[in-house]
Amino acid sequence: PRKLADRLSAVAPSATLAMAAQAARLRSQGHKVYSFSVGEPDFEPPRHVLDAAKAAIDKGVVSHYTAVTGTADLKAAICAATERDRGYRPTPAEITVSCGAKHALFNVALGLYDPGDEVIIPAPYWVSYPEQVRIVGATPVIVETREENGFRMDAASLERAITERTKAIILCTPSNPTGSAYSEGELRALLDVVRRHDVWLVVDEIYADLTYDGFRHVSVPAIAEDLRSRTIVISGVSKTYAMTGWRIGWSVTPPELSKVLDVVQSQSTTNATAVAQVAAAAALSGSQDAVREMRDAFAKRRTRMVEGLRSIPGVRCRMPEGAFYAFADVRGLYGIPYKNGTIQSDLDVAMWLLESAHVASVAGTPFGAPGYVRFSYACSEGDIDGGIEAICAVVTAAR
Ligand code: PLP
Repeated sequence: PRKLADRLSAVAPSATLAMAAQAARLRSQGHKVYSFSVGEPDFEPPRHVLDAAKAAIDKGVVSHYTAVTGTADLKAAICAATERDRGYRPTPAEITVSCGAKHALFNVALGLYDPGDEVIIPAPYWVSYPEQVRIVGATPVIVETREENGFRMDAASLERAITERTKAIILCTPSNPTGSAYSEGELRALLDVVRRHDVWLVVDEIYADLTYDGFRHVSVPAIAEDLRSRTIVISGVSKTYAMTGWRIGWSVTPPELSKVLDVVQSQSTTNATAVAQVAAAAALSGSQDAVREMRDAFAKRRTRMVEGLRSIPGVRCRMPEGAFYAFADVRGLYGIPYKNGTIQSDLDVAMWLLESAHVASVAGTPFGAPGYVRFSYACSEGDIDGGIEAICAVVTAAR
């Protein structure tokens, strides 16, 4: 009786923690560590967002509970911004505001998946998708993708993975960790499969505003009105407005699911922090100039990071369409002497880069992609150049 819940025994802790601890140790010893491991923009939120939050505090209007699923103001701002940026207009009854997109996804998992249900997740995947599915007792079904297909799941692979137990499919576009994004045509092919089966489609669009070279993100509800009754869109302000710490994300779901999410949230977190909701509304409704500026900065960094990685002997890297990650094939580095043997895995590569070049990255294995390493370019161009140089130096010396 005095043991912990079985529910969590199969759930993996965040695999990036060991790396983060080692990076912190190196920093405390006075070393410069190049942070290519972070999953958040290094910018500050737009000034007007912070001003709006301060004004709300000073007016004394943000010290109490709000409606469980979000204030009317924020929901109105989400609906208007979704129409402006995504090409379809949800109603407030479809919106559930949560403490970040991760929380929104978790609430959806609680509201949707039963033990025995299968949830299809293409690999490479964001680490939380399969773990959240497991926490609620359902089964993640991983569909492998290929780099030659841009790490995108094709219709035939999706069709093969669907069984009568399939409850949902989770898509992430643009993707963490690969930066790959689905074109409208690729999405339409997947939607045709979804149409033929009685399943839910969850689309995580948290990186939708960060696409480059004119790549146009397409939102599923904008092209598949007929699937609205079983499409769930996840979004938030973390990545677009550099507001990770404010913890505001949301889901767009059919109203009958919104009602269930309201119950889930009313029995757990109640509402997202009131002042953060004010800040999020300001971000969505105000000038979008800062979004463009940050996107332009990320676009430059992307080229620098990918070209830098490509210049390293033994590393290959595809040019991603969006997000702020470069996902590199590092198998060419296997065999380099390391500890008492040689480098044998992406986990070894990531630890070796940290120890020898002081470059923090994230191994692909926890993302379901052995052989790859994720390099975040949410850092300055100077750091990108410095980190790439440091990697080049240790790789050259090891050869
Ligand atoms: N979805 C993906 C794919 C992410 O990479 C992240 C953050 O890393 C999230 C959701 C969660 O974002 P939030 O800060 O809104 O919880």
